[in-house]
Amino acid sequence: MAEAASTAPATLGHFHAPDLPDLGGLRRCVHCGICLPQCPTYRVLGEEMDSPRGRLYLMRAVAEGRLEMTDTFVRHMDLCLGCRACETACPAGVPFGTLLEATRAQIVRDVPPRRRRWSDLLLGLFPNAQRLNAALAAARLYRRSGVQALVRVTGALRAFPRLAAMDSLIDTVAPGAELPEHIAARGERRGRAGLLTGCVQRQLYPGVNSDTAWLLSRAGWDVVIPRAQECCGALELHGGRLDGLRTRARALAATFPADVDVVVTNAAGCGSAMKEYGHWLAGDPAVERLAGRTRDVTEVLAAAELPLGRLDVTVTYHDPCHLAHGQRIRAEPRALLRRIPGLELRELADSDLCCGSAGVYNIQEPEMADRLLALKLERIQETGARIVVTGNPGCLLQIAKGARLRGLPLEVVHPVELLTRAVAAGEWASGGGP
Ligand code: SF4
Ligand code: SF4
Repeated sequence: MAEAASTAPATLGHFHAPDLPDLGGLRRCVHCGICLPQCPTYRVLGEEMDSPRGRLYLMRAVAEGRLEMTDTFVRHMDLCLGCRACETACPAGVPFGTLLEATRAQIVRDVPPRRRRWSDLLLGLFPNAQRLNAALAAARLYRRSGVQALVRVTGALRAFPRLAAMDSLIDTVAPGAELPEHIAARGERRGRAGLLTGCVQRQLYPGVNSDTAWLLSRAGWDVVIPRAQECCGALELHGGRLDGLRTRARALAATFPADVDVVVTNAAGCGSAMKEYGHWLAGDPAVERLAGRTRDVTEVLAAAELPLGRLDVTVTYHDPCHLAHGQRIRAEPRALLRRIPGLELRELADSDLCCGSAGVYNIQEPEMADRLLALKLERIQETGARIVVTGNPGCLLQIAKGARLRGLPLEVVHPVELLTRAVAAGEWASGGGP
């Protein structure tokens, strides 16, 4: 182990250790182009250098010392959503996600920070519970005081697209009740489940966390919800802040008791990052154990008996990138929805094409994010469904924002919200009450 560390290269072309992109992974690309139609930025821009193949070509050129990390190089990396649709499509098994994350770590460390003021600001805000709390309290005041309405009527933010993007996202911020630290299983006991409440989910969609805990307990799980838990580091991973990710992963591993059988997430981005902790913290047994126990809530509930009552609704399902591409979970949420009596699930064309949310991308790159959101809403309208179901807080926010701005009568919900309604309907119908 020590010998391997001493022989590790200090540089790779214009990249510097630690966290070098894997040259073997970069060279695995055979330039076939199969990934191109699946790439959202290539679909919108039609530019080779904004395709997976083009980005890999650029990364490899830097790794082989033929190109420096110029502004143009950084721009093509910044415009990537990190959605990993290219990984799903690639027949050669190019690990695009980790290559991008390592490249972004190089950019964060070695490129002058003038282009990163916004990402530094956003990544200093979202994963920090106190700062996010304070910012959301200010956002509520901004909305209730009427200042937001005035800003929108006057178009005062037109010249500041990133501020306008933030403004457009903060219609739904409402405080939520804190969950207890332990909820007992009902019925036949299956085991102990830790619940990750997530920094964004906890603040913006607290009902999704309480519904998740409620369903898990009805599915036979003792639910453990440590109050001391903090952010999983997914946003930092996405932004190339690998030291931040490592600190958060270690803290989270120490937070969940050793005797929980699974750690459940209901945010696709968090689950994807946690399942891949081992790549960035290889050899840390506590973190690797946490990664091995991490499950998306739909994986856990798909294996459970739930007393589902009737819901006469027509819904469509949007695949969050970090569920479909990051965790390869597509069947479980659909199977759960189809188990609800009366529910009609209409498939969405391009359901796994990114909606433009992508962590804080919709604030950093509002123009591209809005173009992708417009595509998503067109496809949703084609289904005729009035309810859109999706399992990631960023997608919930982004699609709800698009529907609201266009005046579309759409409800955007997490799968656990519909399942909770169905279980409640079943319990009322059987005379048991919720
Ligand atoms: S991660 Fe997404 S946006 Fe980036 S290159 Fe791959 S498919 Fe395109
Ligand atoms: S599908 Fe894979 S091998 Fe083909 S161009 Fe894309 S990344 Fe390269």
